Amino acid sequence: MINQLNSPYLYNVNEQNCVNGVSNKWDSRKNCILNLKTAMNNHFDINQREKCCFCGLYYDRTGRGELEHIAPKGAGLYPQYTFTPHNIAKACQLCNSSSMKHTYDPITVLNPVYQNCQFSIVHPYLDNHNDHYKWNYGLLNVLISVNNNSSKGIKSIELFELASEKRTRARAIQRNQERLENIFNIPNNIKRRILSAISI
Ligand SMILES: [Zn+2]
Repeated sequence: MINQLNSPYLYNVNEQNCVNGVSNKWDSRKNCILNLKTAMNNHFDINQREKCCFCGLYYDRTGRGELEHIAPKGAGLYPQYTFTPHNIAKACQLCNSSSMKHTYDPITVLNPVYQNCQFSIVHPYLDNHNDHYKWNYGLLNVLISVNNNSSKGIKSIELFELASEKRTRARAIQRNQERLENIFNIPNNIKRRILSAISI
């Protein structure tokens, strides 16, 4: 229920020039950076189907999704990866909160080439999630467990509280909704709003 992402946001020539001109300043107010963030948000909403890159749940359940740096961009951490495409995805507010991911440093072995770094968590783009997680599907609960004693699986489940009762139930509700959406073939966003209104 948490899928590996395969579509990082790739810059066009103008966007790349813009990025090159702001020296890794994510909060630049330059128009081209503001426009880039809007384009990124739209890209991830479509490619992640509005699901959090860490917990796989619809991110509107815990507030709007947020552009997330998998390796934090803050001072003393990894400002060099601020605009690295494979370091950016959308996460729910809960996973990105100070009690969970926030400034957690997931890199265990640094490499100048981002994709060659080693990570302590299941990486949204670089890991096959099925190598690290196992699922047990029920109508009321979808249980997650560690596959093959994976240390990344253990760390991600702990950090994002993926095995909590709340998340276990939320996954079951989401899975049931998706099955209904498939049966009725109603656009996902409309169906989800109707069903989440009913389930409250
Ligand atoms: Zn999440």
